[in-house]
Amino acid sequence: MIAPVRLVSEAAELAARRHNGMARKGRGNEPYINHLAEVAHLLAVATDGADAELVAAGWLHDTIEDTETTREELAERFSQRVASLVVECTDDMSLSKAERRRLQVVHGPKKSAGAKLIKIADKVSNIGARIHSNPTAEERDDLADYTGWAEQVVAGCRGGNPWLDTTFDDMVQKARSSL
Ligand code: ZN
Repeated sequence: MIAPVRLVSEAAELAARRHNGMARKGRGNEPYINHLAEVAHLLAVATDGADAELVAAGWLHDTIEDTETTREELAERFSQRVASLVVECTDDMSLSKAERRRLQVVHGPKKSAGAKLIKIADKVSNIGARIHSNPTAEERDDLADYTGWAEQVVAGCRGGNPWLDTTFDDMVQKARSSL
């Protein structure tokens, strides 16, 4: 069992290295690590720092999907729970985007309590990055489309953490009022 501060710190460090040079989608071409920091932070606040493995999984949640990282490696470096939380948040990239999106909606309710929180935090962060002060027509469409889908995913994941649910609802509100 790795001490909690070390666990989270090592997760952040590995995520930073694995996602090095990647940019996130949305506003200002931010480095990808900003998205991971945001998700991990939302999870830390939502649980008031009580679940280091969840926060570590927040840092790592896109490593299997987007980088050369495997479940086995995460299990060995961190823990089985961290590894399985990340696996639960990993889409099958061999499927089409439409199918991946459909499966996120269908599979949401079956996920573990922790994975549901990561999914919600991920959507909060991704909607936020798509809110522009002067959106183009394309940016508007993308935000409306993403937000509508995120609401369907979150509908199947919510109920485990009232603060995170409210944070998501507030972000949806902010997105709609920017359209
Ligand atoms: Zn993500």
